[in-house]
Amino acid sequence: MISSEVRRDASTAEIVAELRTRRAFVMVSHVNPDGDTLGSGLALGLALRAIGKRVYYFQQDPVPRNLRFLPDADRVSRELPPDLPSDTLWVFCDMSSPSRAGEFLPSLQSQNVLNIDHHLGNQRFGAYNYVLESECSTGSCVLRLLRGLGAAITPEIATCLLTTIMTDTGGFMHSNTTADVLRASAELVELGADKARVTKEVFANKRFAAIKLLGAALDSARLEECGRYCWSVVDDAMLASCDADAEDTEEIVQHLRSVEGVEVAALFKAYRGEVRVSLRSSGTINVQVAAARLGGGGHALASGLTYRGSLEDGIRDVRRVLREEGL
Ligand code: 5GP
Ligand code: MN
Repeated sequence: MISSEVRRDASTAEIVAELRTRRAFVMVSHVNPDGDTLGSGLALGLALRAIGKRVYYFQQDPVPRNLRFLPDADRVSRELPPDLPSDTLWVFCDMSSPSRAGEFLPSLQSQNVLNIDHHLGNQRFGAYNYVLESECSTGSCVLRLLRGLGAAITPEIATCLLTTIMTDTGGFMHSNTTADVLRASAELVELGADKARVTKEVFANKRFAAIKLLGAALDSARLEECGRYCWSVVDDAMLASCDADAEDTEEIVQHLRSVEGVEVAALFKAYRGEVRVSLRSSGTINVQVAAARLGGGGHALASGLTYRGSLEDGIRDVRRVLREEGL
């Protein structure tokens, strides 16, 4: 059982010392995985494997199509070997709470949990918490650890790390794209990161089904609150009629957010018996706080939640919490 006792954050040196001590690692990524959760775990895993450690990658969901190009992605699984040493370190990447890993992990002792993250409101659920809220991505936190470790940053590792940064900055478009982020990205490219491949695979390789689904979601989008709030829904019927699946919904909310005058965009994903909500802000409204009011979380400008109730109630409650945050 992971302790809910709040712990302090560890320094880079403390985490590096722990990484050196342990022999086996399980990198854990979150459900509905993205390029940051997966790329950060793969980058650290590749570096640890290179210095002779045993590394496994746990992810409840399959690797999304657009991330299968990542090195070591073929080793990611929800199955783990039965003979893991008792001092295996479980490295949660990009999760504000361990529940984001899903339901298939064994019960863990907190002294075997390292929590690497950059979300606001991280629960500090590990014995080792490396939570850097000012970093643009969890991969950037891993980059600090790799430098502390003196690890060789191979082109494969650099590609994984560049994927984390490009994912969480929206291809260097979001406001978290600081000069430091661009400098780190330039260094990763110099180290051999395949920027063209990341751009193509992550941002420019959409299935026709995804484009049809985007069209359907944009067609039914609503503009409310005097043009400040744009939202839409994707449901089972729309997925079926476009021959699309959950992975094809990824970029829809950004288009809603990009409408002139829009402060907040929401996409309600009502399929497979769940109502998941993606929220994006243009800057004035903190959607992390709004999502947290309904049990979700994320960042000030990008957050999400799973709504416990009907789609209609979810649409009403999300509008309510956004208004409470100033919409
Ligand atoms: P997305 O809309 O792309 O699914 O998520 C946007 C951001 O919100 C990401 O940083 C993601 O980690 C976070 N997020 C999404 N869903 C949840 C959730 O159910 N709980 C928490 N704590 N964070 C979430
Ligand atoms: Mn992230």
